[in-house]
Amino acid sequence: MSDENRDATRPLAELLSDLKTNEAGLSEDVAAKRLQTYGQNTIHRQKQQSQLVIFLKNFTSLMAILLWVSGIIAMLSGSVELGIAIWAVNIINGVFSYWQEHRAAKATDSLMAMLPTYTRVHRDGKVKQIDALDLVPGDVFDLQAGNAVPADARLMAATSLQVDQSALTGETVPELKSVEFTPGEGKYSESNIVYAGTAVGAGTAEAVVIATGMNTEFGKIASLTEKQSNITSPLTLELNRLTKQVSIIAMIIGALFFITAIFFVHYPINKSFIFALGMIVAFIPEGLLPTVTLSLAQGVQKMAKRHALVKDLNSVETLGETTVICSDKTGTLTQNQMTVNHIWLPTGEFTVSGQGYVNNGQVQQHNQPVAKTGTPDLNRLISIAALNNDTQVENDTKSKKPKILGTPTEAALVILCQKAGFNTKQHLKIMPRVKELPFDSRRKMMTTIHQENQQLDIYVKGALSDLLGQCTMIQENGIAREITDADKQAINAANKKYAVQGLRSLSFAYRAVPFKNQDQVDGLEIANAEKQLTFVGLTAMSDPPRPEIYDAVNKCHEAQIKIIMVTGDSQLTAKSIAVQIGLTSNQVRVVTGTELDKMSDADLKVALKGEIIFARVAPEQKYRIVSTLQTMGEVVASTGDGVNDAPALKKANIGVAMGITGTDVAKDAANMILTDDNFASIVAAVEEGRAVYSNLQKFLLYILNSNMPEAVPSALFLFSRGLIPLPLTIMQILTVDLGTDMLPALGLGSEMAEPGVMKQPPRARNAHLLNKRILWKAFAWYGAIASAVSTLAYFFVNIQAGWPNQALLSSGIGYSRATTMTLAAIIFCQIAAALNCRTKDESLFKIGLFSNPMIWTGIIFEIILLTVLSYTPVLQGVFHMTPLLGTDWLFLCIIPIPIVLIEELRKWLLRVRRRAVTN
Ligand code: ATP
Repeated sequence: MSDENRDATRPLAELLSDLKTNEAGLSEDVAAKRLQTYGQNTIHRQKQQSQLVIFLKNFTSLMAILLWVSGIIAMLSGSVELGIAIWAVNIINGVFSYWQEHRAAKATDSLMAMLPTYTRVHRDGKVKQIDALDLVPGDVFDLQAGNAVPADARLMAATSLQVDQSALTGETVPELKSVEFTPGEGKYSESNIVYAGTAVGAGTAEAVVIATGMNTEFGKIASLTEKQSNITSPLTLELNRLTKQVSIIAMIIGALFFITAIFFVHYPINKSFIFALGMIVAFIPEGLLPTVTLSLAQGVQKMAKRHALVKDLNSVETLGETTVICSDKTGTLTQNQMTVNHIWLPTGEFTVSGQGYVNNGQVQQHNQPVAKTGTPDLNRLISIAALNNDTQVENDTKSKKPKILGTPTEAALVILCQKAGFNTKQHLKIMPRVKELPFDSRRKMMTTIHQENQQLDIYVKGALSDLLGQCTMIQENGIAREITDADKQAINAANKKYAVQGLRSLSFAYRAVPFKNQDQVDGLEIANAEKQLTFVGLTAMSDPPRPEIYDAVNKCHEAQIKIIMVTGDSQLTAKSIAVQIGLTSNQVRVVTGTELDKMSDADLKVALKGEIIFARVAPEQKYRIVSTLQTMGEVVASTGDGVNDAPALKKANIGVAMGITGTDVAKDAANMILTDDNFASIVAAVEEGRAVYSNLQKFLLYILNSNMPEAVPSALFLFSRGLIPLPLTIMQILTVDLGTDMLPALGLGSEMAEPGVMKQPPRARNAHLLNKRILWKAFAWYGAIASAVSTLAYFFVNIQAGWPNQALLSSGIGYSRATTMTLAAIIFCQIAAALNCRTKDESLFKIGLFSNPMIWTGIIFEIILLTVLSYTPVLQGVFHMTPLLGTDWLFLCIIPIPIVLIEELRKWLLRVRRRAVTN
């Protein structure tokens, strides 16, 4: 922005003329041209870490250094080919890690592009919703509570505008902004300028853009700071630790093997060394970390497909642990498609149909303005509903569906007024809005003030519980009289009647005062405007539950995840919907915001243990509910959409913001954004979170189980003092470790959620990824089977060749065939293991033997690699391999069948036992 435009003391008219714009905004043509000149309204951060540095990092980890050194030592001890092989392993692993990380980063980055920020801009004389990226200098746009300020802009109009500038100044106290210039202290304190990167906490405004993108003050700061690309979750930290620990254990085992080989077997030093090296390489879990990162990133992508955008990999893991979901009602559990069904007036009740009003069974068409045909009371209600309204409903020519610019609640009122034939534009000309007191979910009311000649009309709409208390009068047949207790009883009874049907009610009131002067208008605030009102009537709206909600609620119950409805709506409406969708029984305790305030922490804790919903709560009170649940040890996901929801969203383990109706502030505070605002998407994300975690465990189980058959042959050799020739050479160990294990392992990382994953309770918060059960299963079950089978295969060939009567020469063909056979047997056991690892306790055949193509690609690759190594003359020498006989292949092909069947039997027994327990 030019410094002149930034000058807050300049008259607005001068600024507008300099920006070649006016109060009505730009035309689309001019805006398009300016977009080409100024570019998109976006901030480019300084270049991130260079790809080369990231690439090289993969070759300098502890594990990589260990492998580099091992390679050098192998070469120095005369085994050049082994040295090269170890180095090759390291390079392949490094490239693979880089590739995985790159894919993971790209997957998460691309999600950010799915989160556009919209702005309401005035173009061609109309208000339009556009992507904030397309904003240009000179554009006139609207701001309201919860909006992120999209560009640096000068205020043209403002009502009670408060802006949180902490992103720029670090100051958390909101700044009051207004059209008039008042110099403040320090930078960014000009009262009539709002800055990109800040957020509107309260109020509304209209402003003209003076700078976009990198020309904004925020852009200038951002260009100085470097964005930290942070994809390290506690899970990856845990794995980092795990890799280090395992590497150390590998070194210790290597050392033990080395000493035993020298002193017990009297093996030459260099051979003992290479032998020990084999063990080390076998145990080091190469590829573990990047695969985990990729699995998490894939989880994020799968969640995105199911309408849940997760902002950090961390949350994928936390989602799987969720024990309680605190959910809004409106729009999350329900469709947010409001329709006014009933109007209640002190003089009678109207049912609203698609056509017009149905009164006493008769359809009254309203082709003419309602002012001419309706009763005075009805006219008044319609007039308040239309004018005390910030929402526009347009017919979208493309989708043929009405497009709402604003909130569904107000949109329902717009439609109602259209049905009544009310001409809002014309009325606004006669009685323009001179002031507004915007809706906020704490006081649950909204007021607009209109001036008609020498009269001011204060129009109020809001929740009956808050509004009725401010009414001293009631209008009946066009005449206002004092409100009686009997009137209030009748109003409350009507309200109750609608609420028990799950309808949302909204009440309307007004006050007319003589207009004196502008100071009088300026002085009208919540405290004195929303007082001594005349009650007019109620509307009752239906907002049906989302069709998918029943299933989602049921899933949560099965998964032992508690759902607590926390809504701003009334008790009876809340309860009616909760019972209707199966969230709670009819005996549920409904606690209102007022009751909650009076409750002690201890009482709240007791209440939270039982069936409970919260109604008529202010967003701030959500914070207390969330934090109390957390002190009870719960892992809480909480939804929210407004500015005041931000603290609760931040406090929750998983803050969930609404993508459609949510404010920018809520989206910023959340960990996850629902692109369809749908509760069912939270449940889908929890399911994916659980699946990712369980896939990682499957992956670990698979990676670890091959360590046993790799180590057992060497142990046999050692403890027989060399009597049993080494069944598996170090090159063959490397083949298993990196050649054949990798692809199926990757396949396990992208396994679908197991059918039973939402039928178990949430896992404990302190549960470790690598637990005793996995270690036990990896080593004592899958590993033991593979060790036994591969040893058997080794002896099968040896005995065929005449062992032990005819001692085998280490270099003989018979020996090569035996070692080849050991390797092949391990590979075939791994095929079975890959299939077995696919489910924890569900039958493999239930999820479909061929339902994960990546596993089968891996299996085919394993067999091809084995064939290539044993049939290619050059490689035969390097890997000590030899072609196998037909009988050998037959033996090999049979191996996986009993292993899979035995495991199927175990899983079946487990399921039977579990069923017996639950019955
Ligand atoms: P949830 O908290 O489940 O999303 P909600 O939409 O009812 O439910 P709020 O948005 O806090 O919660 O609204 C609280 C109450 O305020 C509503 O029940 C309604 O009576 C009233 N209300 C909502 N929107 C408006 C509005 N635009 N103007 C005046 N009153 C409103």
